Amino acid sequence: MLKIGITGGIGSGKSTVCRVFSVLGIPVFEADLIAKKLMNTDDEIHKKLVSLFGAEVYLPDQTVDRKYLAGIVFNDPSLLAQLNAIVHPVVRKTFFDWCDKQKSPYIIHEAAILFESGFYKMMDKTIAVVTSENERIQRVMKRDKLTLELVKERINNQWSDEERIKLADFIINNNDNELIIPQIIEIDKKIRAYGKVW
Ligand code: ATP
Repeated sequence: MLKIGITGGIGSGKSTVCRVFSVLGIPVFEADLIAKKLMNTDDEIHKKLVSLFGAEVYLPDQTVDRKYLAGIVFNDPSLLAQLNAIVHPVVRKTFFDWCDKQKSPYIIHEAAILFESGFYKMMDKTIAVVTSENERIQRVMKRDKLTLELVKERINNQWSDEERIKLADFIINNNDNELIIPQIIEIDKKIRAYGKVW
């Protein structure tokens, strides 16, 4: 079974694209969402986060205090790397266990930092969802009720589209004047057709 990675900048439309693949019957592993859940439920992660960041990293209901954690790691790349080193291996194991249970010609692994983390190397092919910075800003401001400055800060913390385009096997253009469904159907056809020879 082929593993297809989907990535893209904040607000590019990764989740929207994945919903279409899902409608086509393709199982989607939402790595960022699963990582968030595992931080609340996995005992090993819990222990390591408390030892690295202190007990106050968990709220009284034992869910991660995401605001507190973001405040600590946002401007400290070394702590962010340590956080990732705790969470990513558990997410990866969960992903491969999940893959073993799927019965489809291919599966999708959706992650915002697929290229940055190096995990794209575990994928057979990758797709980058590309949308102009201006549209991404407008969409995220509307969706998350964030200020322009905060959205720009997040964009600046990620890779650029140029960097993603260089590594991606397929590009989906999700600007306002483009239709994503025909692009997705085309890619789906190619993956199904070439799957056996890759
Ligand atoms: P994030 O990385 O922040 O999770 P994402 O890449 O998964 O974002 P989505 O959540 O799919 O992006 O899309 C961002 C917002 O833009 C959502 O509110 C979505 O409904 C909207 N959106 C996505 N594609 C389009 C489009 N083609 N036209 C208009 N709005 C769109």
